[in-house]
Amino acid sequence: MNERGVHTMQKEYQAIIVGSGPAGAACAKALKNEGVEVLVIEKDKLPRNKTCSGVLFGQTQVLLDQYFGGLPPGDVYCDPKIIKAENILEWNKERGFSTYVWELPKDGQSFPQDFYNVWRSKFDYWLLNESGVAYRDGCKFNDYSIENGKVKVEVSRNDKENIDLYCSYLIGADGGESRLRPLLDPSFMKIEQVCAVYQAYYRFSDMGSLEDAHWYVFLEPQIGEVISAVSRKDDFLTLCVGGFKGRSLKKSMEDFKNLLAKNFQVALKDMERNEGCVIKMAPPYLGKDNIILTGEAAGMLYLNGEGMSAAIDSGYRAGKAVAQGIKKGGKVLEIYGKEIEGILNHMKLCVEKMHFFAV
Ligand SMILES: Cc1cc2nc3c(=O)[nH]c(=O)nc-3n(C[C@H](O)[C@H](O)[C@H](O)COP(=O)(O)OP(=O)(O)OC[C@H]3O[C@@H](n4cnc5c(N)ncnc54)[C@H](O)[C@@H]3O)c2cc1C
Repeated sequence: MNERGVHTMQKEYQAIIVGSGPAGAACAKALKNEGVEVLVIEKDKLPRNKTCSGVLFGQTQVLLDQYFGGLPPGDVYCDPKIIKAENILEWNKERGFSTYVWELPKDGQSFPQDFYNVWRSKFDYWLLNESGVAYRDGCKFNDYSIENGKVKVEVSRNDKENIDLYCSYLIGADGGESRLRPLLDPSFMKIEQVCAVYQAYYRFSDMGSLEDAHWYVFLEPQIGEVISAVSRKDDFLTLCVGGFKGRSLKKSMEDFKNLLAKNFQVALKDMERNEGCVIKMAPPYLGKDNIILTGEAAGMLYLNGEGMSAAIDSGYRAGKAVAQGIKKGGKVLEIYGKEIEGILNHMKLCVEKMHFFAV
C-alpha cells in the first residue's frame, strides 16, 4: 500500500534485476545486448558505497574488456592507480614479509598482474550506466509472487510508496545479504559459517615503513579469524578486519591499529567513514523456475573475496541464459547451469589453494 492506501501498478518488463552491483550490471548488459526489456531496481541511492577493497584484479579486467568493451574512465580510479601483484605482501612477526597470491589462473589462463585501485561507488555506477538499461534507485525489493504466469514483484520506493512491478523473469543480484535468496532457499538463513567484515577509512600523517602502492595482509588470529588488510586509497589508509560471528570487530580494529603503529610506525588521524557487511559461506544456488540468482546472492565468490570477477561473469552468463529463454524458449536454469560450470570449478580451486582464514 502506498501512503494513500493503494498499490501503484506499473508496466510489465521482460526481466527485472534486483541489485545494481557488478552482477546486476553485467546481467543487464547481456540482456540489453539481446534486446530484452529490463529494469534494474536498487535499494540505495546511486552512486552507493559497498564494503570492498575496490581492487580490479586481472580476471575482472579481462571480463570488462570482453563484456563491456574496456576498462573504466579515469575518475573511477584512486591514487595509487596500480597495485602490482608482487606488491601484495603478507606480514608475519616471525617470518616477516612474503608475496601473497591473491588471484589464480583460471582454466590455464593467466591474468594481468597490474591490479587497478578503484572507488566502488564510482566503478559500480559506471558499470550500470554502461549497461544502458533503465534503473530505479531508492527502490527496495520486498517480496514476489506468481500471478497469471507472471512474476509480481513488490517493491517500496524511498521507504514510502509500495509499487507492484511485473516481469517474466526476476533476477536476484542483491549481493551477500540477499533478500530474494532466502525466499527461494530457506537454508540460506541457517548458514553457520558467517564472517563479519569491518572497514574504516583513516586520514593519516605517516605511513611509517609501509610502502605506497602496496597492499599488506595479515593472518593474525588475535585480530580476527579472517584476513586483515591495509592499503592507501587517495587521502586515506583503508583498514579492514574480519571475524566469525560474535567477535567484536571494533576491538579487532583497535588491535590492528596498534599492530600497525607498533611494527610499522603508522600514524593515523581521524576516521572519515566506516562500513561493514557479512559474508555468508553459502553454497552455490541458481534459483527456481523463472527466478534466477547471480553474483554473491547465488554464492558466486572466489576466495579471498575476489568477488567482482565472479559477479560480472556469472551476471553476464545469467543474462545470456534468460535472453535465450525469452527468445528461444529454452530452459533458463539448465542453460545457466552449463554456462557457469567454469566459475564453479574455479571457486573449488580457490577454496583449495587460497588462504583467507587466520585460524
Ligand atoms: C571487505 C571486502 C573487500 C572486498 N574486496 C574486493 C576486491 O578488492 N576486489 C574484488 O573483486 N572483490 C572484492 N570483494 C568482493 C566484492 O565486493 C563482491 O563479491 C561483489 O561486490 C559482489 O557483487 P554483486 O553484484 O554480487 O553484489 P553487490 O556488489 O553486493 O551488489 C548488490 C546490490 O544489491 C542491492 N540490494 C541488496 N538488497 C536489495 C533489495 N532488497 N532491493 C534492491 N536492491 C538490493 C545492494 O544495495 C547492492 O547495490 C570484497 C568484499 C569485501 C567484503
